[in-house]
Formats: sequence, C-alpha cells, structure tokens
Amino acid sequence: MKKHNFSAGPAILPPSVIKQATQAVENFNDLGLSILEVSHRGPDFVAALDEAIQSTKDLLGLGDEFEVLFLTGGASTQFFMSAMNLLGQDELACYVDTGTWSTKAIKEAKLFGKVEVLASSKEANFNYIPKDYSIPSNAKYLHLTSNNTIYGTQYRELPATDIPIVCDMSSDIFSRPIDPKRYAMIYAGAQKNLGPAGTTLVIIRKDILGKVDRVIPTMLDYRTHINKNSSFNTPPVYPIYVCMLTMRWLKEMGGVEAMQKHNEAKAAILYDEIDRNPLFSGTAAVEDRSLMNVCFTINKPALEKEFMDICTAAGCSGIKGHRSVGGFRASIYNAMPKESIEVLVNLMKKFAEQHA
Ligand SMILES: *Cc1c(COP(=O)(O)O)cnc(C)c1O
Repeated sequence: MKKHNFSAGPAILPPSVIKQATQAVENFNDLGLSILEVSHRGPDFVAALDEAIQSTKDLLGLGDEFEVLFLTGGASTQFFMSAMNLLGQDELACYVDTGTWSTKAIKEAKLFGKVEVLASSKEANFNYIPKDYSIPSNAKYLHLTSNNTIYGTQYRELPATDIPIVCDMSSDIFSRPIDPKRYAMIYAGAQKNLGPAGTTLVIIRKDILGKVDRVIPTMLDYRTHINKNSSFNTPPVYPIYVCMLTMRWLKEMGGVEAMQKHNEAKAAILYDEIDRNPLFSGTAAVEDRSLMNVCFTINKPALEKEFMDICTAAGCSGIKGHRSVGGFRASIYNAMPKESIEVLVNLMKKFAEQHA
C-alpha cells in the first residue's frame, strides 16, 4: 500500500515524477542506458540541466541578473559558503534567529565577518517569527530562513528594508510566488520540496560576487560554478534530473501562484481541525503558521502514543514531531495531495470522539 507521506525531508514527490524518475533509471530518454550511467557532459543530461535552470527562472520570474546553480553539500554548506563569498572580514551581516537552521547559519557566518543577530524567538522555543527590530543600514545582507521546518513557522511578509536578503528557502521553495528584487541570494536543499537529497539549488545575483578579498577555494567560489554551468566537477546528475521533472510538474500544475492556492487550501483543512478539535493544539503562533510543516501536540500526553499508532496503522508515515518540539508534525509540501490530509483529519476527528 502506498503510504500518506508526511515526512519533513527527504519528502514526498509527485507520483508522476517518481514514475518518470523510475523510467529514467531503466532507460533514460530511450538511449538504452540508465541515467545513472551516462556522462554529465552528454547532450541528454546537459539538456535536462539547462531545463532545470530555465524552469527555476520561469517559475520564480528571475531576470538575467540572477544565476541558477545546482550544487552539493546540502543547504548546510550554504550556511558558510554564502558568508565566505559575500561578507568581507570587517563587514556586517544581519541574521534573524528563527530556529535550528538559522542558528547554524549564524554560527558559520561568524567565521567570515561581523554578524549581528537582530532578533530571536529562542525564548519561546521558536514558535513565532520576530518582527520588531531595526536593520542597520550598513549591513551587507540580511539572512532569513523563510520556513522553519522544525517549528512550523513561516514568513508571511518580508521585513521592510532595502538591504538585500539572503534566504534559506529549503522547505518552501516553489510553494508560493516571491519578489526576486528583494533577494541577493536564495538557497534550498532539494530534499524538502523539490527533489531527492543530493543537490542544493542556489540562486544568486551576479553583481554581489567578487567583492570580498579573501582567498576562496575553487570549489567554494560561486563564480567557478557559474562559469562552468554547475558542471565544473561532476554534478549530482540524478538529483538534478528529478528536480527538473518536479519543475515540469509544477509548471503543469499552474506554477507557483497555483501552488500557493493549493497549499493554502490544504493547510486550512488541517489547521481548522487542530483549532476545532479539543484534543489537539497547534504549537506555532497563528499568524506565523507554516503552510508546509504543521506542528501540533495532543492535550492529553498519555494518548500520544495511541494516536501515533493509529496514524501508522492508517498508513500515515513521518508524522512524529521533531524532538525539539515534540508532538506531531505533518509536512504537507507541494506534492502532498489534499486526500492524504483528509485521511489524517478524519483520524483526528474519530480519535477525539473516542476520547471525548
Ligand atoms: C533541512 C533544512 C536544512 C538542512 O539541509 P541539508 O541539505 O541537510 O544541509 C537547512 N535549512 C532548512 C530550512 C531546512 O529545512
């Protein structure tokens, strides 16, 4: 039985993408070869890579000032690589601390320049997005984590500032439209909302590069990968191919505008039940609730295991909350169908009736 996959990451992909990805492992583009055994310099993979880059630009409305890269090392490598490439030793970068991933980004940036943490919601276990802070005008960039995968919070609006934003969009890339003019750089590990683990999408404005005077190792310099179209060394061929398939699917679904509508409707089904059901409570501040990761707890902790078992028996997989929040986390990324959310909501309804 195909399960309802609520995993936070690696996470659900559209069934049509899984099917085409499977086909390409057997026989890629009718070449009589698996995609796992073809050259990254061959025309078929180069076409897939070029399509992935172009689709990223199309879906997000990026102009020619942006470069699109598919790198390795995960979003975690971008925590330091962004600062290494963008921040001079005596320059200031500003960060907002909205949880584990931001905290890690802050730690790494401090290796390369001055870092000011403008605000943090740590005192409330990161259950909200801080909004009340001012941004020093001399900051080189402002780093944000648009969706906080572990705590289920998400920016609805960006802070009002002219400072270019560097954004970790690992868990909500392509889930809604963005305003590219606000960003100097966007990065996202593929494995949450885009493809399999193994590649990181990096979008970067060319004009912000080449401004720091430190020595940057070749592989860690964005310009290396820009100049070689993400193929300076062997790129992660298969993950990039699957990302390309997901972007084709996104376009067929109507792009990021349509995705946002789907995601809002899907999240509403689950949040409405959490708010209505006397047994469950949401953990994130209502105005900052994520459309991607829905975190909730059960009001009678003794029942937690029983509900988890019921979810498992009904084929709902990956619903256990992160250890730092507890309870449950339903990750409902782009590919999550409404029907799977309804299965979960019905389990919650029945469980509350049984334990009323
Ligand atoms: C998962 C995640 C990361 C870490 O990604 P890796 O690719 O494992 O390094 C970073 N930021 C956010 C927001 C995430 O959800």
